[in-house]
Amino acid sequence: MLDINTIRNDFPILKRKVHGKPLIYFDNGATSQTPQVVIDAIIDYYTNYNANIHRGVHTLSQEATDKYEEARIKIQKHFNAKHSYEIILTSGTTESVNIIASGFSSLLKKGDEVIVSALEHHSNIVPWQMMCEKVGASLKVIPMDEDGSLQIDVYNELLNDKTKLVFCNHVSNALGTINPIETIIDKAHKFGAYVLIDGAQACPHIKPDLQKLDVDFYVASAHKMCGPTGVGMLYGKKELLEMLPPYQGGGEMIETVTFEKTTYAGLPHKFEAGTPNICGGITFGVAIDYMNAIGFENIQNRENQLLEYATEKLLAIEGLKIYGTSTKTSVISFNIEGIHPYDIGSILDKLGIAVRTGHHCAQPIMDYYQIPGTVRASLSFYNTTEEIDIMVEAVTKAKMMLS
Ligand SMILES: *Cc1c(COP(=O)(O)O)cnc(C)c1O
Repeated sequence: MLDINTIRNDFPILKRKVHGKPLIYFDNGATSQTPQVVIDAIIDYYTNYNANIHRGVHTLSQEATDKYEEARIKIQKHFNAKHSYEIILTSGTTESVNIIASGFSSLLKKGDEVIVSALEHHSNIVPWQMMCEKVGASLKVIPMDEDGSLQIDVYNELLNDKTKLVFCNHVSNALGTINPIETIIDKAHKFGAYVLIDGAQACPHIKPDLQKLDVDFYVASAHKMCGPTGVGMLYGKKELLEMLPPYQGGGEMIETVTFEKTTYAGLPHKFEAGTPNICGGITFGVAIDYMNAIGFENIQNRENQLLEYATEKLLAIEGLKIYGTSTKTSVISFNIEGIHPYDIGSILDKLGIAVRTGHHCAQPIMDYYQIPGTVRASLSFYNTTEEIDIMVEAVTKAKMMLS
């Protein structure tokens, strides 16, 4: 079982005040907070062995290289990838998606089809639009339902022999709903299409088994799973990563260079041009260790309790509507009738409560509900029911002030 006081003590930021009130951090879906072990590891890197990797014979460079490659193995083990070189360290989910989109734009041809879900983050819509425009492929969309789930029967109809790639998030960042990625992957494979799953919003809550899922590509960001910003991962099956062209040219990604011809380095270096976020990669590994020490089953149990508690309390407020009610992670996206979400968010901030307001980089979902945006409270295992009570009281107060 989780001892919540011990856990909260791991996160020094939770002790700070905002506008004179204790911070209540409910914006974990945008970025999670950082435990002391990760902060210590960042300090340790810059204090003791800051050096460039994969190129120096000197001790510091060896130490940094070893730690960086150890982190890659930790990430591989965590996600159960078959080989450590199938884990590419990137600057985050956005870059990971762009590596695949850019790679496929030289493999697809006119008339090919790409399927995306209606629940996507903008970072997942724009690269595919750009890619399809460039090659003359067409982009099809799996529509959503009122409860925030995907219409899988329509997906079945969209799939055909022209489908080359399917793209879907594991968990929607705007609603927190969990998509049936097992089904999505299996069905796509029947038509020979590849599947890329965006796990940015799932990985703080769920530990995916990539080999079991048989997914072709899977991406995530460290900063949503207790790690630092500016680092993330791209998993791809070996033969598919080998098939894709490199994303950027530069140091680290080459084997030999002459002006006539350059040969690329093998995996994972082919996709890791230039000096990477060395400290970020190493401390991503530390964050994964931290989360596994707590245990994903414990995390899920606790977050489900918090979700249930908050849902019940919030729904008791008259005129409050929650968007996305199918199976989901601990995210509550809501509005109060007649009140702009931004106004609620501003009042909550004055009371020390951090939530996100707006379209959450998922404008098509907002268009579906015909709303400008929502207030999104995304809860983490280090949050408490007391904090939820304070938020509910604050939302009630905001409603009184604004209506
Ligand atoms: C946060 C998020 C992204 C973007 O991640 P970055 O770390 O900003 O690159 C993409 N997809 C989903 C579902 C997200 O939640």
